[in-house]
Amino acid sequence: MAQIPNKVLNGTAIAAEIRQEVAMEVAALAQRGVRPGLAAVLVGHVPASEIYVRSKVKTCEELGLFSELITPPETVTTEEMLALVNDLNCREEIDGILLQLPLPSQVDTKRLLDAVLPEKDVDGFHPINAGRLQAGRPALAPCTPAGVIEILKRSGIPIAGAHAVVVGRSDIVGKPAAMLLLNENATVTLCHSRTRELAEITRQADILVAAIGRPGFITAEMVKPGATLIDVGINRITDRAELERFFGGDAKREETFARRGSTIVGDVDPHAFAVAGAYTPVPGGVGPLTIAMLMANTVKAAKLRRGL
Ligand code: NDP
Repeated sequence: MAQIPNKVLNGTAIAAEIRQEVAMEVAALAQRGVRPGLAAVLVGHVPASEIYVRSKVKTCEELGLFSELITPPETVTTEEMLALVNDLNCREEIDGILLQLPLPSQVDTKRLLDAVLPEKDVDGFHPINAGRLQAGRPALAPCTPAGVIEILKRSGIPIAGAHAVVVGRSDIVGKPAAMLLLNENATVTLCHSRTRELAEITRQADILVAAIGRPGFITAEMVKPGATLIDVGINRITDRAELERFFGGDAKREETFARRGSTIVGDVDPHAFAVAGAYTPVPGGVGPLTIAMLMANTVKAAKLRRGL
């Protein structure tokens, strides 16, 4: 019997579409003499952060946004960082301020995130923006969860009335994802490490969002047949046994692993994809949306601040 193919939600293609729309908006704003600008602050030398930030700055250039990369030393103090943020808050050409996390341990991260002007908080981490999101007011929403909503909408997955189960309640992903899904009229259940009978709950999900940070945590038995799986997790695995467990028989993964000594797996066990009606792959699912939504947020911030 012929198998119905699973529907892969192509985040790379959706992100490209959003980037194109942002570029068009940037071009339209240029006609009015406005060039949205993003300041990215990268402290010290965390290799993963360096890759992310450079990629963000490069995307700004590609789409016509102004960008500035600021690189304080690893030894920077909270006071010095506060002065830097205050300066960026005051600068007219800066619409978005991005503090690449994690910051070094001597720096008070919460104090700094709270110091960013909410109107320039393009990561959507400021309590004012979290509150606006909760109150259903126009807000700068955190990029990754906003990307989750874009994937669902642009893939024609109905959200209103669906039971959306979010596993993970971080301020950056899980909590705002739950709030955005609620604002889209889903019935939302938010789960975390203290949730009892987790599998019973996830099996009720029409839309299951995994934002846990544990490789392949959501297994096939935890998924309702036909559900949409949104896998936010990015976990690097270096253990050959794990490679076998998740990707045994996948020649492409074997090849990547042999070359790099590692590969990336999400929070969903790839075997669960067979049960799903649609799913986001890792890589190439939610990941690419994060930068696209950062660009969209920077343009939104530029427009909101000017009352456009
Ligand atoms: P956090 O570590 O901040 O949060 C993890 C959440 O998962 C917590 O709420 C925790 O519960 C919950 N959790 C942990 N173990 C269990 C368990 N056994 N059962 C149920 N819930 C559990 O992670 P983030 O939200 O920052 O990130 C989640 C994942 O998403 C990571 O893999 C990260 O790399 C990835 N990520 C991807 C992005 C992208 O661009 N695609 C962007 C940001 C993150 P509790 O609160 O009770 O501790």
